[in-house]
Amino acid sequence: MYVTPEKIRKLADEKGYIIVAHNYQIPELQQIADYLGDSLQLARIVTKIDAKKILFLGVDFMAEVMKVLNPEKKIIVPVGYSTCPMANSLTVEDVLKYKEIYKGIPVVVYVNSRTEVKAVADVVCTSANAIDVVNALDSDTILFGPDKNLASYVAEKTGKNIIPIPGETGYCYVHNYVKDSEIKKLMSKYPNAEVMVHPEVPKNIRNLAHFIGSTSQMEKYPASSKANEFIVVTEVGMLAKLEKLYPDKVFIPVPSMVCYNMKKNNLRNTYLALLEEKIEVTLDSELIAKARKAIERMLEITEGAERSERKVVKSA
Ligand code: SF4
Repeated sequence: MYVTPEKIRKLADEKGYIIVAHNYQIPELQQIADYLGDSLQLARIVTKIDAKKILFLGVDFMAEVMKVLNPEKKIIVPVGYSTCPMANSLTVEDVLKYKEIYKGIPVVVYVNSRTEVKAVADVVCTSANAIDVVNALDSDTILFGPDKNLASYVAEKTGKNIIPIPGETGYCYVHNYVKDSEIKKLMSKYPNAEVMVHPEVPKNIRNLAHFIGSTSQMEKYPASSKANEFIVVTEVGMLAKLEKLYPDKVFIPVPSMVCYNMKKNNLRNTYLALLEEKIEVTLDSELIAKARKAIERMLEITEGAERSERKVVKSA
């Protein structure tokens, strides 16, 4: 069966599906998305969407966030095995064990975590708002998981005592294993390029950066920079979006940075998902209610931080 992006788009319209895709999807799938973004952007958008049916293109924990925030909507995904090893690295048992050791210490979990883990956490964060979330908590010590690299970046930025859970085994393989020699090679090939890095990379890579931020923050940075070339140290899927946003600027990928889980979605299985209207994401209602509490707390904190930023800008 030969499937084109146009064929998928037409079927989605006929069946009344909204297509929501993460920035790391292949360019052909990005092209047919009604909404394209990072976890926080998508989580917020979906709460405002009127449509009853959503086709989500990303990995399983993200689809579950959609379901938690929109239990009444039908959410389908092309494959049931598109998962995130980092999210799976932190278990409920781990969180409960750390809560027992560090009694009364708040638990912040990255959105890249299992829904069951969110349900036992105090608040969720994304790479875009982790600093605001940690700063908003009335505690100098925080249990933070599962990404040890994001934990160390947040510790640097907030000055708080961040205890990474589960510790050394919590990381994203795409970002954790990037070599500084690979980035330095690109830097000498493109001496005028600025280096943009995602906070999921280790400290030695962050040290090479002109800019550190989530994918939604990377989207904005080129507009405020005088540079015309950027080395993009995150999953290669991000390049398609940046090239579309800034056709006059040059974006250089790090070829080793591919998330094979994100790339399990393709044109064929996306078309079939719409045709058969499955695989549907389902979650227990009690689990939804518990996980939703931690996600909503994040949204409240983020919206509060944005309101005060706007006030500062207004009164400046
Ligand atoms: S890029 Fe990393 S964190 Fe994101 S889904 Fe892939 S493995 Fe998980």
